[in-house]
Amino acid sequence: MPLIPRSNDSYDPHLCHICTKRFLPGEIRVRDHNHWGSGRINGLAHQACNLNYRATYFIPVVIHNSRNYDNHLLLKSIPLNIAKCIGIIPVNMEKFTMFSLDHLKFLDSYQFLDIPSKDK
Ligand SMILES: [Zn+2]
Repeated sequence: MPLIPRSNDSYDPHLCHICTKRFLPGEIRVRDHNHWGSGRINGLAHQACNLNYRATYFIPVVIHNSRNYDNHLLLKSIPLNIAKCIGIIPVNMEKFTMFSLDHLKFLDSYQFLDIPSKDK
């Protein structure tokens, strides 16, 4: 992908555009650029800042008490080719705290309630 400088080319060669700290002698500077589509250069950044900087977002899908039952129904109905992309945080082999599929995170609202557990 060709890197495209910004038209106004206003990034500061002495400051990391992510953490806004000055570059120290010997620190590795990289050109942070848009990986999706345009290849536009966002500015100079520390190598570590650039590696840790990413646009993360998710859409919460909140289902009440899904941990105990509904998650099983949802996971059983997902086609196998899509099921390979699911991330799961298990409690044990039968219960899942949450699972994620692409940018959707399936959460259990019951876990956010302040109710004494019946399991104890
Ligand atoms: Zn930085």
